Amino acid sequence: MSYITDSAVKFIVVHYSATWEDQKVTAADIERMHLARGFAKIGYHAFVRLSGVTEPGRDMTRPGFVEQGAQVYGHNGHSIGICWAGGLKRGHTINEGFDTRTPAQTASLIRWIDAQLERFGGDGMDPAKGPVVVGHRDFADAATQCPGFDAAVWWSAVQEQRARASRAKPAGLATLFQCIKEIFA
Ligand SMILES: [Zn+2]
Repeated sequence: MSYITDSAVKFIVVHYSATWEDQKVTAADIERMHLARGFAKIGYHAFVRLSGVTEPGRDMTRPGFVEQGAQVYGHNGHSIGICWAGGLKRGHTINEGFDTRTPAQTASLIRWIDAQLERFGGDGMDPAKGPVVVGHRDFADAATQCPGFDAAVWWSAVQEQRARASRAKPAGLATLFQCIKEIFA
């Protein structure tokens, strides 16, 4: 087992498992696949079932250190990775990847990424502040469609939606105070 320091982590990588959208795979199933490929254990740091249940993978419990993953060839020394179950659609070939995330999986992905940003810092978008959220396919040397969608664009949209929601509240209050002032003016 080798470990990397928290400060070495520059990327939070999103993967799909390249299994059928209705196939109920677990971290144990993925581990079996990875053992067959010669890995010591599951290569990801977390795995999200169709149900949204998130299972741990490589060790992240040691303060200040993360067990090095086996998830992006050539980039495991500076990244951590999460994988969600799915990506393949019935009626299509196994060479076509899709965003087949269930709403529960998307919610769990957001929760897990938030927890990592809490630990490693930043907003997942600005590399000056902390690790950035990317997809496996965003690495130039990765010949894959994984995770079937643009993870960086998706994460920016998640953050933008939050920013809008938090802006909306004070604006609403300000309008209310303005109304009250006008009523009593
Ligand atoms: Zn991948």
